[in-house]
Amino acid sequence: MPNVTHLECSLCANRFEPHRVHNLCSCGGTLYVRYDLPAIKATWTLDQVRSSRSDLWRYLPVLPPQHAESIVSLGEGMTPLIHTPRLGAAVEAPELWVKDEGLNPTASFKARGMTTAITMAKELGVRKIAIPSAGNAASAAAAYAAAAGIEAHIFMPKDVPQSNYIECKTLGAKVTLVDGLISDCGRIVAERKDQEGWFDMSTLKEPYRVEGKKTMGYEVAEQFGWELPDAIFYPTGGGVGMIGMWKAFDELEQLGWISSKRPKMIAVQAEGCQPIVRAFEQHASRSEFWQNASTVAAGLRVPKPLGDVLILNILRESAGTAIAVSDEEILDAGRELASLEGIFAAPEGAACVTAARKLIRNGFLKPSDRIVLYNTGSGLKYLDAYSGAGK
Ligand SMILES: *Cc1c(COP(=O)(O)O)cnc(C)c1O
Ligand SMILES: [Zn+2]
Repeated sequence: MPNVTHLECSLCANRFEPHRVHNLCSCGGTLYVRYDLPAIKATWTLDQVRSSRSDLWRYLPVLPPQHAESIVSLGEGMTPLIHTPRLGAAVEAPELWVKDEGLNPTASFKARGMTTAITMAKELGVRKIAIPSAGNAASAAAAYAAAAGIEAHIFMPKDVPQSNYIECKTLGAKVTLVDGLISDCGRIVAERKDQEGWFDMSTLKEPYRVEGKKTMGYEVAEQFGWELPDAIFYPTGGGVGMIGMWKAFDELEQLGWISSKRPKMIAVQAEGCQPIVRAFEQHASRSEFWQNASTVAAGLRVPKPLGDVLILNILRESAGTAIAVSDEEILDAGRELASLEGIFAAPEGAACVTAARKLIRNGFLKPSDRIVLYNTGSGLKYLDAYSGAGK
């Protein structure tokens, strides 16, 4: 689509040419894709959205490819937004909803970021990609790379869930298990990418994963009739989805489809890795590396999110907060959500249930608030975690 005007650094507002391969700004900032929103507003209607395809590419005018033929899709997005009154009664918030991202291809919302990132890699002529991942990003990268005929090189901590490892191998990726954390995997990719000719698909180091993940914001608005909820609970590792949704809300307001009302954005982390919670509580503008990060919620094991400045700004601007929960609480909440509502959530998603209960109990949220919890993946990818917890 000819709607992209330029890329813009999220920190220093430096501008970059579109339709070329980019990673970070020289200041270290992530690049945002900018669109000609007034022109889009003049031609794109809600009726067109309503009658469009039933995946996230229904929002094509605000997505990055120049040519629709570039799209690499496996049917991602337009996941159900489920009212959960039985769980709502248990946490004393009747307007409780779960956006169930476990239904995406490769069973997590990482599919959203990868459909746009791999689409753009293909459009820009990239032949090989590399990615450090704690699990689900790797699976999604492997799947979309396979569908695009692009070579995928994946570096995972050696204790990732078995399901992710086997999935990536089966999808034809070249997988290396690393004795270390995702940050160690990232270092290896950074060191070797130039020599190997890899395009670095690390979280927030390329501009297009945010664009796919922002569609969670478009969808929640559309599914509630273009009105945003009062609070959004988001299990925050790298924070891509939160950053993307916040960008989506801004775009939607410029398109005239929503008002200036914003949900309280709530970052949920695990006690064993809570750099954003710590920074938020200390009124810091960035996070500090979390030593010895450990949690069953593998997607939350990000010791130092690259987008920490952006995440912390969003929490403050939205009058939201950040909260950490223990692994035991996470797995209990996972069983509660599953047995009350029939949704077998990833531990990351389950963490939001505990967080919501705490923030309703302590009065941060009102019982009448409309609350959305993001279940970011399927519990079926975490059988190790759930089977160990049945004691
Ligand atoms: C990656 C991941 C997260 C964290 O996502 P970010 O947008 O990077 O914060 C949460 N849940 C699951 C299941 C994930 O795979
Ligand atoms: Zn910059």
